[in-house]
Parts: sequence; structure tokens; C-alpha cells
Amino acid sequence: MPDAPAPAPPKPLSAPQKALRKLGLLRPIDLALHLPLRYEDETRLTPLSEAARVLGSEPLQFEATVLHQEVTYRPRRQLLVTVEDGGERCLLRFFNFYPSQLKQLAVGARLRFRGELRGGFGGLTMMHPTVHAAGGTLPGALTPVYSTVAQLPQAYLRKAVQAGLAQADLSATIPDEFSSQIDVLRAWDLRQALTFLHHPAADVTLSELQDHSHPAWQRLKAEELLAQQLSQWKARVARQQLHAPALRVAPGGLPEQLLAALPFELTGAQRRVGEEIARDLARSQPMHRLLQGDVGSGKTVVAALAACVAIDAGWQCALMAPTEILAEQHFAKLAQWLAPLLATRGQAVAWLTGSQKKKERAPMLAAIESGAAALVIGTHAVIQAQVKFARLGLAIIDEQHRFGVEQRLALRQKALPPPLGEGRGGGAEVQGEAGASPHPNLPPKGEGAMEPHLLMMSATPIPRTLAMSYYADLDVSTLDELPPGRTPVVTKLLAEHRRDELVERLRAQIGEGRQVYWVCPLIEESEALDLRHASQTHAELSAALPAARVGLLHARLPPAEKKAVMAEFVAGRIDVLVSTTVIEVGVDVPNASVMVIEHAERFGLSQLHQLRGRVGRGAAASACVLLYSVPEGGRLGETARARLKAMLETADGFEIARRDLEIRGPGEFLGARQSGDALLRFADLAEDSALLQWARATAPAMWARHPQDAARHVERWLGARTDYLKA
Ligand code: ADP
Ligand code: MG
Repeated sequence: MPDAPAPAPPKPLSAPQKALRKLGLLRPIDLALHLPLRYEDETRLTPLSEAARVLGSEPLQFEATVLHQEVTYRPRRQLLVTVEDGGERCLLRFFNFYPSQLKQLAVGARLRFRGELRGGFGGLTMMHPTVHAAGGTLPGALTPVYSTVAQLPQAYLRKAVQAGLAQADLSATIPDEFSSQIDVLRAWDLRQALTFLHHPAADVTLSELQDHSHPAWQRLKAEELLAQQLSQWKARVARQQLHAPALRVAPGGLPEQLLAALPFELTGAQRRVGEEIARDLARSQPMHRLLQGDVGSGKTVVAALAACVAIDAGWQCALMAPTEILAEQHFAKLAQWLAPLLATRGQAVAWLTGSQKKKERAPMLAAIESGAAALVIGTHAVIQAQVKFARLGLAIIDEQHRFGVEQRLALRQKALPPPLGEGRGGGAEVQGEAGASPHPNLPPKGEGAMEPHLLMMSATPIPRTLAMSYYADLDVSTLDELPPGRTPVVTKLLAEHRRDELVERLRAQIGEGRQVYWVCPLIEESEALDLRHASQTHAELSAALPAARVGLLHARLPPAEKKAVMAEFVAGRIDVLVSTTVIEVGVDVPNASVMVIEHAERFGLSQLHQLRGRVGRGAAASACVLLYSVPEGGRLGETARARLKAMLETADGFEIARRDLEIRGPGEFLGARQSGDALLRFADLAEDSALLQWARATAPAMWARHPQDAARHVERWLGARTDYLKA
């Protein structure tokens, strides 16, 4: 007997199916919500005789008869076809063509052509028109054009969207009591709005569709904003169910000791923000706070104070930074401040990075697990599975926007041990005065999950309204004051062909003991190219400045070498540090007073601002030189110009952020668009503030009175993306 046939393996996905998946178009509703980028009007035919008068505007279509066909080879191989209608002729040109097309375009054939018509001495011409049989019925609605990728042909996508629209559950989720509050919601339901936007009637005012002011668009924006607000409200409520250790400080405790040991006084802003954080930490719900402050505003010391609160209360604190160099700097600074204070309590500062040798790492892991390491500083290594905290009470994430959502969630989920008497009992031995109970401030068992407090820091200030509407459930503290004694940085714009002058001036500066950063741009496609570019600049500068010590830092260097180069620069043994953007975040070398940014036109605005923030940290007058090159035969792009202009006009991080937002739009501003997960696809927080207000007011009421509809609404709109709103 033959064996039963093996079950057929799952069919591999076709290329267009894979592309759909990659675009996140998985469920019918995702397809239905994939709205057209623009439309083509194929509802009309324009007679050739009339078409001559509307040259050069929109693509148009006409029907005509083929008079003549020939393939020429000069100046290059092409197919030339002359067509005629009502006495008017038009020459069609095809550079790519198939035998089947030669057949289709036979002399005498009556056909329909669509493309952009051009005039000229030789009469009307059209390049590469699309060709169909004449006489077919014309569509009654505009034809949608969707954003797509190479592997996903427009026609395939159109069919998929059409099918999605037919299959998706579009039944109402917004109860009447809320939808009746807004005119557009009364007038258009979701199905009507979507059907219309995918296939608008030909007589619609196109501008209304383009600027999203059409009622159908308004309906979608309202729905989207509501989904976002519902999801945020839920996250906030969820956090209120969680528990965190209440971290309270005794008088004369670590924070006070740190303040006494610091070589400077806190600024008013640092004090205020420190108090905001201390207040949150004293609560038994996890803090979820974003500390934003311009580059150089002194966030590190605020983080150190928060760490002191946690440690003083008998808990551990973890600080995670996005790069090894930055983590190293934090370690150096915090260890200098805190290690002596901790030593008197028998505690230490631990250090974790990916490049660490096992031998160095093992004792760190042990100290973290036993609780002897009260403060743990490191890179992503901190969130790896082997790292087990005895009692993590506070997690701090520096430059939070550099971390992915998953990483932020992972740090929060570094679960605390179960309270009292369960699991690893360890910790009492390093608990110090906190006494026998390892978890003195924990709520009784079974009252809800535990999470550490979370402090996120960012030097890319997010305009307040944006922060509140984008990030679920986030409190924001702002350092709006720089420490005293800073000299403002002078910013200069310099064309590339004046590079020699610049090098001359640097020579003089270096002679006066100044140190210089020279940053080379990231070339997107290739890290190897970056490196070549930076190495070349390094060689050129070394040759041009023989008396100076020129160093090179780039992402490919092994961590130990990076560290060594950085240490040389900090110690003043390197005069000019040529680097790729690895120095972008956080480094603090007060003696460096000149920042040169090569190909500044290629950098983003907040990146430029961050880089400029590396200088002006000491007493010396500082300068930032933006070297720019204009592409051959062209001019600087609109956005590049706007960015450079903003750099010249302001040094205020918030103003920079505002302009950046203006230049890029909120989706990209928050880095969401890059990851293909823009949180708001349709609504614009600034433009649609009335709808936003409605959504904000509606969300809590809807969860309270119609929880099922609320859940369905969130699922429909956000599906798998809800995590993004939580982190
Ligand atoms: P950022 O907010 O960019 O992380 P840092 O924390 O690195 O800024 O601080 C920038 C510099 O200012 C550091 O050298 C730091 O020691 C110093 N600093 C911080 N606060 C004060 C203060 N209140 N007075 C004087 N110097 C300060
Ligand atoms: Mg910093």
C-alpha cells in the first residue's frame, strides 16, 4: 500500500504577497485603510483637437487611429507611431517595446492612449503612453494611485485594496452619543468615507481631496485620532494597576550627599525637575517620565540624583545608553561622583557592554544579581536575558529616541523579584540599614504586576502637545535653563570650496590650545564609503596640519580602540578628532571648542543641533562651522536650505525642534515613518486640533460606557501596532 500523501507544504508567498506583508497590509481592514496617494482621471476622453490647448498639465487620454509605424535606430532604438484623430496628429515615442506592441499598434488600428501630451515644433508628441483598445466603457470614478514598492504592481495592489474594502468589517464602532457631536461624523460613516476615498466621483474638487479637508477625510481623521486616544487612555489605566516600590529618601541620605560633593550648584531647572522626579518615585505606581532638555542642559546630574533616591531606598538603578562611548562617559562621570559615596555602604557601580570579555563580565553579573551593584551602567547589554537584577527599582534610558520600542519595553520588563520570601531571597546582605525585609516598600502579594520606575531622557525636545498626544501615558519634565558660564556657540556657514581657508583658521585655533571635532557625514548606502571618506579627510588634515595631532574615530573601530581614541581626545592629546557621526550623542569634552560638520546639508536638523551641542561646554568662545556643497550644476534642496537656515538663526533646542517638525512633519519627526509605522497616517495634530480635542474628551467616556466598541475600534485601527503606543 502506498503511504498516504504527505500534507502539502504551505505555499510560498508570491513576490507581491510578500510586498504586501512588508507594507503591513495584512488584514482586509489594513488594505481598506491604505488610501490613495493621488488619483488619475480616466473618466473622460479629450479629443486631440482640444487636447492641443491643455498641453503640459495633467495626463489625458484620447482615441485615435494609427497612420504610420516605424522603428528607428538613431539617435537610439525607438518605436515611432503617428496617430490621427479629427485631422489632428500626434507622434508617440516608445523606447522600450515588445513585438506584441508592434502588432497592437498596427496601421489602421483604433486605440485609446493615455499620457502627458507635449507640443513643440514637430507638433504634438507623447512619450510612452499606455495603450488600450478604443471604445471600452470609461470608469465612472477617479482611478486611485497607491503608494507601493517595486515588487507590488499598482494593478495588483488596486485589486487587493478593492478586495480588502469588500471584506473588511466596517460596522460602526463609535456610538451615536459621541458621533453626533461632530457634523462630519454624522454625515459620513466609515464605509461611505472609505468607498468614496478609494473611488471618488469624477466631479469632486481635487483640492479638497489633496488637502484632506473633504468630509470623508475628516471622518477618517476623527476615527484615527480616537483610536490613538483610546489606546493611550488604556495604557494610563493599565499603569495605574501596576505597582512599583515607593522610593522615599531619609534626611541626610545619598541625594544630599551627592549634592554636597558636586563641584557646582544645580540650576533652578535641575532642582525643579529633580523634585518632580522624586515625587514620582515616592509613589507606589511606576513613574513613566520623559526628561527633556537641550544638549548641555545637565541631564546627567538629574539622572544621578534619581539614582541616589532609588539606591538610598534600598533598590538598584540601571542606566542604559545607546552607544558604548556614551555609556563609558556616563560610567566615568557617575562613578567619579557616586562610587566614593556607595563604597561607604559596601556597594558598587557595575558596568556592562557587549564588547566586554567574559572574565570581566561574570563578576559584574554576579554583583547585579546579588544586589551589591547598586548602580548598573551600560549599553543594550543591560537588557539581555542573563542580566538578573536583585531589585531593580529605577531604569533610566538616556537618548531614549535612539532605542527601539522593544528595547524600552524590555527594560521595563526586567521584572522585579516577587515580594517577601519568594524566589531569590538574596539582597538582605547588601541591604544595609533597610533591615531584614528585602522589599520593605512592596505592596502585599497578588495586587498587580511590578515594574521599575522609568525615566527616559532626550535631548531632542518634543513640542509639548506632540509629546502628550503621541506617547501614551507619559509625563514630561523639561530642563529649560542651561548651566551658567556657557559662551554661546557662533555658527558659520561655509561653502566647500573655501575649505582651505577653514583649515588655515583651524591651525591658528589649535595653536591656542583649542580642540576640534571634524564630523564626516553618514553616507546612507554604505558604511565602507563613510569610512573611506573619513579616512581621506583624516589623511588630508594630517598633511595640512603637520604640527597638530589628528585622530580618527569611526563606527568600525573595535570598541577598545574607540575608547582609547576618545580617552586621548578627552586628555587633550588629540587636537583634531575626525569622526563619522559616532560622536553624535552625549559626549562631553569641555575643552573642545570648534565643531566642523562636513556636508552639513546631508544631516538632519536635530542631528546638526546635537553635534553643535558638543562644543560651547567650557569657558572658551566656541564655533560651529557648517561646510556645505552644492550638487554639481544644481542648488541646495529646499529642506537642506531650511535646515541650515534654522541652524544659523537659532540655538534654542525647542525652536529647532519646532522648525524640524515644520520641515519634516510629525510622523518623520518622531522617527516613526522610518520604521514604516507612522502612528498618525491621516490626521495632523496641529491642523486637526478640534478633532483631537473631541477624541481626547471621548476616549475615557467611551471606555467607561462602551468598552467593547472601544476595544474593537482600537483593534481595527492599530492592530499589532498598539505596542508602539505603550512604549
Ligand atoms: P546633557 O543634558 O547634554 O546630557 P550633561 O549632563 O552632559 O548635559 O552636562 C553638560 C555639562 O554641564 C557637564 O560637563 C556637566 O558636568 C555640566 N553641568 C551640569 N549641571 C551643571 C550646573 N548646574 N552647573 C555647572 N555645570 C553643570
Ligand atoms: Mg547627555
